[in-house]
Amino acid sequence: MALPVAITTEDKIKMLMREGINKNADWSEAAHYDIRKPNFVIIHHTAQHSIAQTIRTFQLEHTKVSAHYVIGKDGRVVQMLNDYLRSWHAGRSKWGNITDMNSVSLGIELDNNGREPFPDAQINALLTLLDTLKAKYQIPFTNFLGHADVAPARKNDPSVFFPWKRLADRGFGVWYDESNLVPPADNFNYVDALRIIGYDVSNLHAAIVAFKRKFIVTDVGKELTDYDRRVLYNLYRRYF
Ligand SMILES: [Zn+2]
Repeated sequence: MALPVAITTEDKIKMLMREGINKNADWSEAAHYDIRKPNFVIIHHTAQHSIAQTIRTFQLEHTKVSAHYVIGKDGRVVQMLNDYLRSWHAGRSKWGNITDMNSVSLGIELDNNGREPFPDAQINALLTLLDTLKAKYQIPFTNFLGHADVAPARKNDPSVFFPWKRLADRGFGVWYDESNLVPPADNFNYVDALRIIGYDVSNLHAAIVAFKRKFIVTDVGKELTDYDRRVLYNLYRRYF
């Protein structure tokens, strides 16, 4: 009787790689290549109750979700997938013209139920990890995003408690110049501005809420106030 054979990660990768060979073309392997590297980082909160629960979720067969890293409230960092593998963390997602964020990004989950602040130990561990990833893969500072940025109609993580300004001050993500919030020009088109920054504006209200959750924080309504438009105008001009 044959014993069941455990499939190793290496076997699984070999099986997946075979799917990339086109059977209708001749095969003659080129000599020069390496592994594709991640170019975005997407930050999440787990909306679960403990890091142990999240690790288990990412290991169960039926859940179909994962992330490269999970960070506990005490700053413990657990890597769950090799950086070069495509994790299932972003789901249906869009940023600029990219329609499959999982293929280009690393996913980092912060243990947090979505209704509580992020402890310093956790944010410090995240910043250290981001330093490493940014340098190792030469990820542009604009490409550090939240899940809600790339899936605004479906997701709200990380929550308003997430310190985006602190990240931007360290070179991860974009922030606005609070001392220079001039009114936008008369012909300023705020929908175009959101789109140029990267938001999917096909559901405009969802894009506005995602923008406000990140940059305004104290008000996450569906309309842009005069103040919000100044913030958006300031941010938008950083993309030229
Ligand atoms: Zn998420």
